[in-house]
Amino acid sequence: MPTIHCKECEPDKSCGNLHLYVIEFKKEVEKEFKRKSKKGYLYVGSTGKSVEDRFSDNYIKKDGKWKYNSKNVKRIRKYFKKFRPELLYYEINPLTYKKNDKGQLERREAKLADRLRKRMPNWRIEGPTRKK
Ligand SMILES: [Zn+2]
Repeated sequence: MPTIHCKECEPDKSCGNLHLYVIEFKKEVEKEFKRKSKKGYLYVGSTGKSVEDRFSDNYIKKDGKWKYNSKNVKRIRKYFKKFRPELLYYEINPLTYKKNDKGQLERREAKLADRLRKRMPNWRIEGPTRKK
């Protein structure tokens, strides 16, 4: 049975490939941004694990410290509203691994973020870009 994130993952087992995901933040996240969005705030991320496993890692503490604690992870812990698999990533997942292409995951992530920026101009979309 697939998950809401990937056609090939199972609820308790990753398909072993790479995954993209899109998270919608709660409206209160806007206090962290100078430029406010009329519609809302999204975050595009990627992982070599299943999206479920990566997400629960955001809530793991090791020796009293968060395992992940980047600016974006802090925002996810504070303002997570829901996943938005209909924003293309379910269709895209899973990405297959090309072992000697280290930049591929970030490129795919940036490409998805740019597509969403084009499609949803009134939303603010956090994540990498391919545009300079
Ligand atoms: Zn998968």
